[in-house]
Amino acid sequence: MAKQEDNFKNVISHAKEYGFIFPSSEIYDGLSAVYDYAQNGVELKKNIREYWWKSMVQMNDNIVGLDAAILMHPTTWKASGHVDAFNDPLIDNKDSKKRYRADVLVEDYAEKLNLKAKKEIEKASVRFGDAFNEQEFITTNTRVVEYLAKEKEIRERLGRSLGNGDLADVKALIEELEIADPETGSRNWTDVKQFNLMFGTKLGASAESAMDLYLRPETAQGIFVNFLNVQKSGRMKIPFGIAQTGKAFRNEIVARQFIFRMREFEQMEMQFFVKPGDEMRWYEHWKTTRLNWHLSLGLGKENYRFHDHDKLAHYANAAADIEFNFPFGFKELEGIHSRTDFDLKAHEQFSGKKLQYFDTDENKNYVPYVVETSVGLDRMFLAVFATSLKEETLEDGSTRTVLSLPSVLAPTKAAVLPLVKKDGLPDVAHKIIEDLKWDFNVAYDEKDAVGRRYRRQDALGTPFCITVDHQTLEDETVTIRHRDTMKQDRVKISELRSIINEEVSMRNWLMKTI
Ligand code: ATP
Repeated sequence: MAKQEDNFKNVISHAKEYGFIFPSSEIYDGLSAVYDYAQNGVELKKNIREYWWKSMVQMNDNIVGLDAAILMHPTTWKASGHVDAFNDPLIDNKDSKKRYRADVLVEDYAEKLNLKAKKEIEKASVRFGDAFNEQEFITTNTRVVEYLAKEKEIRERLGRSLGNGDLADVKALIEELEIADPETGSRNWTDVKQFNLMFGTKLGASAESAMDLYLRPETAQGIFVNFLNVQKSGRMKIPFGIAQTGKAFRNEIVARQFIFRMREFEQMEMQFFVKPGDEMRWYEHWKTTRLNWHLSLGLGKENYRFHDHDKLAHYANAAADIEFNFPFGFKELEGIHSRTDFDLKAHEQFSGKKLQYFDTDENKNYVPYVVETSVGLDRMFLAVFATSLKEETLEDGSTRTVLSLPSVLAPTKAAVLPLVKKDGLPDVAHKIIEDLKWDFNVAYDEKDAVGRRYRRQDALGTPFCITVDHQTLEDETVTIRHRDTMKQDRVKISELRSIINEEVSMRNWLMKTI
């Protein structure tokens, strides 16, 4: 656990030291759970967004993009259910005065039982070696059976109580399980209360005439209210999708995990409109497609898992999360939800306007069903960044810090380094940059010894370092060093563009998803 915490601290400090993420308004001591993306962070974030957009919008001829406003008519949030039901159950500890999400306290307890079962399985696997039959062990070992049964029972009861709005039972569950304040160990809890997560604001000049608005808590509703506009103007035929990326705001109760849970964050969402009755087929399709997209980045298959929801949101008839192994354990990275016709029907009802599709094949009107994929851009950033940050011991016993980002996402694709600051080498380096910058984000660095410059680029995640030396002046060749292997090749300047392109092109990375 301590190691996990240290790793996470390392991630946060590396992000700051190397210009990826700063606390918001830091000179005023920051603003809780709000962050700014710095010079390298903004590039990495943009690349993740583009990688998503390319695969989602440009590679699918039946999916189009949208950029709806953050401010929307307030009735939107009545219709969507957010005014009445976008609540988290919160609980306060009377001694420590700390506030927690009651459901998260219970879920963390259940997760610990799961980890205990896993540990037993691992131990047995080592003990029995090749003869180990995991399935048999899980169903017969009394301790494992007990842990898993208890976990299931707790999760189901939590799902039921939250579904029924029975907050007293959530509190009872916390007391029965003797869950203590994770920071102080105190079990002196208040009752569980609902807390609405939307940020309110006002539109209009004078206090009397001002209209109460909300900052959108999700980007999805901007898509639903535009459904018919896009369908008609784009002559879209079902099944089709509308995708958008953009800011969302939630007044999160507990926001202590860096950019995992922020109060202002960015979502990348796609709503896929289908014929009623077809939704389960598309739900499965998008589960697989989205997992493959994640896997294409090469962060390791073992770092992803599906979590099917026991407790369904008011709008869904099926829902699953793609969970990622973050520095603090497996947590939600993306949600895939079958939202039925809940949203469009609700908007029809509240607006009095029809939001129906005329199906020419069936010769009838209907309100489409919707399958949604929704991933947090900041959580993607954290997943990619934290998994890529490594401390390596080299053959000579020295260590290096390397950010082995998927090269398609790396903020800077190549750094061009003159070996020395004289003899015309900087001029040649600048000339190389002038050519490469049309296609890639490239950097120039002439400060310090070349070995230190390599290390700095490793820590920034730059896949290539191109070094200009005296031989370059004679034969137009340079060395190109690969970040992950540290291997160096001597190549012609004229070959650089295609070497870099081969490694970083979105085409080559996205090909892995099909
Ligand atoms: P959680 O259970 O972690 O609060 P959620 O189920 O409320 O998440 P959704 O409403 O399904 O999340 O939002 C879709 C995605 O948006 C999530 O999978 C996550 O990646 C991202 N997201 C949601 N809330 C936040 C937040 N506060 N900070 C950063 N990303 C977020």
